[in-house]
Amino acid sequence: MSETTTTRKRDPEPRGILCPKCGCAHFEVIYTRRIPDGAIRRRRECRHCGRRVTTTERMGG
Ligand SMILES: [Zn+2]
Repeated sequence: MSETTTTRKRDPEPRGILCPKCGCAHFEVIYTRRIPDGAIRRRRECRHCGRRVTTTERMGG
């Protein structure tokens, strides 16, 4: 199953994260996955050094 998101917002992330390696905040989302817990898990890759981090965001409510 493919869940394609063509909408690409230019809005900055509500919760900015900094790369633990180089400290930059330019991350590219590799994929977004919704977990049964009701949260959204995003895997991001630093555009500067390539460091990958995974963030989990909870939806309001
Ligand atoms: Zn980095």
